[in-house]
Amino acid sequence: MSGAVRQRWSLPAVYQALQSGFGAQNWWPADSPFEVMVGAVLTQNTAWSNVERALANLRERNRLDAQAIVRTRHDHLANWLRPSGYFNIKAQRLKNFCHWYLAAGGYETLQQLETGALRHALLSVNGVGHETADDILLYAFERPVFVIDAYTRRLLARLGLYRGDEPYDELRLAIEHTLGPDAALYNEYHALIVRHAKEYCRVRPLCGACLLRDGCPAVPGQGAAGRL
Ligand code: SF4
Repeated sequence: MSGAVRQRWSLPAVYQALQSGFGAQNWWPADSPFEVMVGAVLTQNTAWSNVERALANLRERNRLDAQAIVRTRHDHLANWLRPSGYFNIKAQRLKNFCHWYLAAGGYETLQQLETGALRHALLSVNGVGHETADDILLYAFERPVFVIDAYTRRLLARLGLYRGDEPYDELRLAIEHTLGPDAALYNEYHALIVRHAKEYCRVRPLCGACLLRDGCPAVPGQGAAGRL
């Protein structure tokens, strides 16, 4: 036997393996679509545990509401968002988002937009980038949009499925084309990738215990050396 790759992973096979290994992730952890949106704005460049503390600050003060956030003084809002990091910027981004959300008519009106139009509208908000917009589309509006983040790029590159440095929409559309439009699948798949990336496929990966190890070309001796 050569030391070549024993099995080439595919996107559906990776999903099946992660789902079997980790079980249902039940994302997004929030009580309402609006809370998903606030969390998506706050989670930029920070761990989710920090976002939870900022959300708890808003909840304790009855400010998890677009009208209430718009009415809140910037310095007060920034102080409550302090646990999520970059709190002055995030306070401004959250206010921008809430102004837009209210002007657009709120959830019921936005829900009526076709996915492409809703994505375009979200991307028009100052401070909302592709990943944040797609978090909101998938987890707040249940639209079949695959979220691309750094964990996704790293895993798919290490598995040899994509380069990992493709432009955001190029990679998103390629994955969506392969998997077909399925919001429930995308919801679970993204959550599983994040779980796997935190536990195994870290910057310094723990390949020895990884359930994708067989057939991963990034594992020394199994293929493309130097991917890690
Ligand atoms: S075997 Fe290593 S590099 Fe490959 S997916 Fe698992 S943790 Fe990542």
